[in-house]
This record gives sequence, structure tokens and C-alpha cells, in this order.
Amino acid sequence: MLHFRRIVRAAAAGIVLTAIGCSGQSAQSEPSAADPQIAAALRQVSTQRIQTNIEKLVGFGTRLTLSAQDPASIAAGHGIGAAREWIKAEFERYSKDCGGCLEVKTDSFTEEPTERIPKATEITNVYAVLKGTDAANAKRIVLVTGHYDSRNSDTLDVNGDAPGANDDGSGTAVSLECARVLSKIKFAATIVFLTVAGEEQGLNGSRHFAKMAKDQGWDLEAALNNDIVGGDKSAEQDHSVVRVFSEGVPTAATEQDLRRIRGLGGESDSGSREVARYVAEVGRVYDAGVKPMLVFRLDRYLRGGDHFAFNQQGFAAVRFTEFREDFHHQHQNVRTENGIEYGDSLKFVDFDYVARVARLNAATLASLAAAPAPPANVHLLTKDLENDSTLTWEASPGGLATEYELVWRATTSPDWEHVHNVGNATRTTMKLSKDNVIFAVRAVDRAGHRSLPVVPVPER
Ligand SMILES: [Zn+2]
Repeated sequence: MLHFRRIVRAAAAGIVLTAIGCSGQSAQSEPSAADPQIAAALRQVSTQRIQTNIEKLVGFGTRLTLSAQDPASIAAGHGIGAAREWIKAEFERYSKDCGGCLEVKTDSFTEEPTERIPKATEITNVYAVLKGTDAANAKRIVLVTGHYDSRNSDTLDVNGDAPGANDDGSGTAVSLECARVLSKIKFAATIVFLTVAGEEQGLNGSRHFAKMAKDQGWDLEAALNNDIVGGDKSAEQDHSVVRVFSEGVPTAATEQDLRRIRGLGGESDSGSREVARYVAEVGRVYDAGVKPMLVFRLDRYLRGGDHFAFNQQGFAAVRFTEFREDFHHQHQNVRTENGIEYGDSLKFVDFDYVARVARLNAATLASLAAAPAPPANVHLLTKDLENDSTLTWEASPGGLATEYELVWRATTSPDWEHVHNVGNATRTTMKLSKDNVIFAVRAVDRAGHRSLPVVPVPER
């Protein structure tokens, strides 16, 4: 009877997968093998460089969004303005090293007063764009972000120290290091390396940036938010994993989307969730030194983050965070009380852990930017009551795909379990009831790079 080898362990072991259908369709799918160029870039990620960068960020004293950004403070190396200028200079330095391959930009705006912003404040996001080299794919974008602002016990304390080594010097360092190592490679699609401000005041920077991306019609396939990836050195920390949070039912779902999700059991197939599963697959293919632990919820209890600003605009976005947070070391003035050390200080950050998280991010960005675009208009035919399942789709736009894979899983399973290579086709029929599984289709290029999978919409 039906026998499909499982994707997951087999891919990890580098075994060639075989999928055999009862209908006589049988095809071999190449395993998701590591791309040697990407693997080489991951080896360039430097723990030392990450440590130096986080030390530099902490050295600005405070990076509170409301802190100083006048020329004298920038010259003195104190406050958020100085941090912003340093990040910009750092991106520009990486660009010089790759023959000007990065376009370094800022997104500045004035935020009017809110609860956590007592007076109108200029907020600046700093980012670098590694433009895709394939004309038909350069408009496709993947993005990595961290917030460079920090805070202490008081969200309005403009002058007090707010080292923000982990929250979120670590995420900022991930974005910078991804830019440094990936700018040495050419990718079909575009990668954006972003650092935002205003996170601690209410996600202001990322809201502005995500809205800009939406207004400008960006084809943004995935946003990876790194916030608190310092691997805080507490006894209970697990340095072998990083949590990856993803929304289930999309924040931006329309009423029509919600009806379909309810009807078909689509609660675990948002674009963000597919990105999370993609990170899991990347984690099996590349040895980043840290394993993604998928958490199927938007974020932690009582907490939010910049990925949500992207979700609100309808983009797929996930959050990377260390396994166990120490709340004594977040949003606290640096002090010792009753023998407990408070504050987000350098001494609690595991720089090697940050480097490993940066490798996992870089591998994900690179895999997506090298891959074909996902297939378009993926449909599952539901006109007749039948036990077979027929899917149709349009070729992956951009011309990189050479074949397609059908993946599926039991409705109760968290991750894709089976794969079937359908060759260079745009239609397939499986002897498998659509009522019992969740299908998706992904595009594959000649070198084996996989696109994000697309779950079909029913077509009557
Ligand atoms: Zn944070």
C-alpha cells in the first residue's frame, strides 16, 4: 500500500528520498543538501566580531529611543544617535569590502507623542540592502531584523544606563553579522539587513518600516526578528536551542480568510508558520550549532516584538529568542539587591551562542534568497466528491524553478512529513484523500534550493 518515506530524518541524514504513489507515479527527490557556498559563509560568522559589536553597542551608555541624538552627543559617543551613526558606518564598511554591494539606507520619521513618547521624537531605522542579482527575482525580498534601542527599569529614563547587551544588542549583532558574511555572496533575490529603533516604546520603528514595505508593495517573503538571542548565562539555560515563535491564524486575516481557515483546519498554516518550518528544515540541513525549537504562538506571555508589526501588515514574520530568559536581566537598572544582579549587562551574554543563532539566520536568509519564488495560485480541486487529490499551480515566477515538490502531513502533525517530486509539472493527482492531510507545493531549482511551500486554496 501507500508507503512514503518521511522527509525529516531522511533529509537530515542526507538520504535520497523516494516517494512512491499507488497510481504508479513514482519519483525521486534529491535531499535538501547543504549548498557549499552557504556552508562556507556560515563558517565566516565570527564570535569575536559579534562580541566586539555588542560591546560597542553597550558602550553608548543608553540607546533609549528618547535619548540624545544631537551632534555633540553623537561626537561624544553617547545615546541612540551615536548608536545609529555607528551602525550605519558599520554597514558602509561591509559594503566597501564587497565593492559597494550594499546600499545603506535610513528610514527616519517623527513619532508624535504617545504614552511612552512624551514629546515628538525622531526615530531612525538603519538598513542595508543586498540587491538580488537575478533581474526577474531581485524584487523578491527576505529580511532579518533586530532592535538597537534599549531601556532600563524606566521606559522614560533618558540619561540612566541601559546597556541592552542581550535586549537587543544580540539581535542587532545578528543583523550586522549576517550582512557582513552574506554580502560576499550573490543571491537571486534581495536580502535586507535591518536594525530598528522604538521597539521598547511600542514597536514604533518596525511599524513604520513594515507599513512602508506594504505601501511600496514589497514582495517580502519572510522577516526574521531576532530579539533576546544572547543565551543568558543562567544555570537553567539550554544553549543548544533557540525558540522560533510564529503566529498561527494570521493577524491580518480577512473575514474570508478566517472562514476558510475554520472550514479547512488551516490554523497552523499561516505564512509565518511556513517560515518557521522552513527554519526548522534549514536547521536540519546546515549545522548552525543551535537547533530551532518551534513555538506555535505569536510570542511569549505578556510580551511582544517587531515581527508582530510585519504580521499586522500581512507579512510572514517570526521571532527568534533564547530558550530561557532571565527577567532580572531585562528592562532593569543595573544594580545588585539582596545578592541578585539586575540589568542587561555584557557579562550575561554568551557571544558564541549569538554567533550560532546568526548562523541559523544567515542559512535561512541565504536559502530563501537563492531559491526560486514559491509557485503561484496553488489550487486544490474540490469540484467533485472523490478520494483522489488534484492540485494545480502556476509556474514559479522568475524562471529559476526546474521542478516542484508536493509536501504533506497528517492534520495533527506539526511539520511536513512527506515529499513527492512531481518534476517540471504544474498539476498532479495523488491517490490520497485531501480530507485527511494538509498539502503544499514548493518550487525547487537545479541546485536543490527549495522555495517556501504554498498551501493550496480550494477551487470549485
Ligand atoms: Zn527586545
